[in-house]
Amino acid sequence: MKQLQDKITDEGIVLSEQVLKVDSFLNHQIDPQLMKAVGDEFADRFRTAGITKILTIESSGIAPSVMAGLMLGVPVIFARKRASLTLNQNLISAQVKSFTKKETNTISVSGDFLSPDDTLLIIDDFLANGQAALGLLDIAEQAGAKVAGIGIVIEKGFQQGGRLLRDRGVRVESLAIVESLEDGSVTFRKETGI
Ligand code: 5GP
Repeated sequence: MKQLQDKITDEGIVLSEQVLKVDSFLNHQIDPQLMKAVGDEFADRFRTAGITKILTIESSGIAPSVMAGLMLGVPVIFARKRASLTLNQNLISAQVKSFTKKETNTISVSGDFLSPDDTLLIIDDFLANGQAALGLLDIAEQAGAKVAGIGIVIEKGFQQGGRLLRDRGVRVESLAIVESLEDGSVTFRKETGI
């Protein structure tokens, strides 16, 4: 997705050969116009997949998910990373090793909002080693819901998550695939430059 790649090139900050900071439009400040375009793109790619609900993880997955949910006309449910006073019954949980924070979180959603009748689109901001996506797949499986695919805003193609998920037969649609963060600059995988 060219608009997204241009934004990453213009505003992304390469923190290391492993980590890209995009706080100006995705992870802290949010660019609503760009998120709308991202949501449209996810909706276009999954329009015929029979999606009934979007499943994401707080907090940076929420903005692109809401935009995609708006376009597909389906609700969005986000997994929580912390215990909550109100979210304490009928919980479905999974363990996720955080790539950026180097800690393991229990992520949870209420079983009230997922059922075997659901066909889910899982969305997240980044795909690195695939731990967050695997945690969300685990939750979907526990709920008995089907997963039509995973939509990722930025995949880091040099890390193992994409291969891990695709090797499992999961459909992964990434709107930008970063090939390398070497020498302080972002290089994209060619086929995403549509
Ligand atoms: P994974 O679970 O695939 O290893 O990592 C994905 C999660 O880690 C995403 O939800 C995202 O929050 C965070 N993450 C991974 N790599 C990066 C990165 O390069 N930059 C930012 N900002 N977040 C990342």
